[in-house]
Amino acid sequence: MWFDGEIVPWEKATIHVFTHALHYGSGVFEGIRAYQAGDDVVVFRLRDHIKRMIESAKMYSFNLPYSNQEMCDATVALIAKNDFHASLYIRPIAFKGLGGINLDARATPTSVSIMAFPYAKYFDGGKPGLDICVSSWRRIGEPAVPGMAKACGHYINSVLARTESAEAGFDEALFLDSHGNVCEGTGENIFIVKDGMIATPGFSSGILNGITRQTVMKLIRDLGMPFVVRRIARAELYSCDEAFFTGTAAEVMPILSIDRKRVGSGKPGEVTSKLKAEYERVVTGLNEKYRHYLTFVYGTRQYIRATSNN
Ligand code: PMP
Repeated sequence: MWFDGEIVPWEKATIHVFTHALHYGSGVFEGIRAYQAGDDVVVFRLRDHIKRMIESAKMYSFNLPYSNQEMCDATVALIAKNDFHASLYIRPIAFKGLGGINLDARATPTSVSIMAFPYAKYFDGGKPGLDICVSSWRRIGEPAVPGMAKACGHYINSVLARTESAEAGFDEALFLDSHGNVCEGTGENIFIVKDGMIATPGFSSGILNGITRQTVMKLIRDLGMPFVVRRIARAELYSCDEAFFTGTAAEVMPILSIDRKRVGSGKPGEVTSKLKAEYERVVTGLNEKYRHYLTFVYGTRQYIRATSNN
């Protein structure tokens, strides 16, 4: 574990129960993936994730004692120190520590930690996609909190919806925003496809600025597929041809049914399957064009050159 500037053993990375963030959720975090690529391990869009974390901290006036570069370097050093040669999940977190119960936590010290561990699939039900429901809970956001911040406390909202959906026998929940428009999953952005046109909600629908969403939008544009960012009404969910989630943990994940109504044929659609395959090539370094998204931990690029056909 990287903890406040040094690499320490897992069991040493502990905090006191009086920690501000434990009581009030006063922290910000990121979820990042690294992939095995031949002899190397590549971190996907590391700098962009850390940038979002810095922006999240700013929204709450939390001071981050490390720069983007320092946190990127720390992440790479951590993976190398563990000698990981596997696909990983990486979780940086910055949180308010010991400083009493004052809700104005500006004077409370901020701790930063980064953890990394081998990780395969987030949704591991053995199905080609997800059966989801629209949550009875709306997504957290304005006017109460800046929903674009990836803040620890916000996730109690996701815990609620995800648990409710699991209790009802669904794989995942989909939030509507406070106006009743389609928003996002508990840890994923959503895209729908209707008559060949791909659509996803924009920031005015209270979404998180997903990095997988950004990547998929770039792929869609580069592939010349028809695409629009717009408000999506709930009813559209029940008449679209395809739907899929995007997220660091979920990657590109087909949605098979919504509220027990089949999406399209009930199987992963053509557009979804294409984007899923493209995304997998990008994150594992098989597409040269997007290699700038990757941070090579061990610096072995031969594999990428040898196997790329782009
Ligand atoms: N929405 C929410 C609420 C999330 O927690 C996540 C996961 N970070 C996403 C969307 C997808 O974001 P990303 O693609 O950056 O993982």
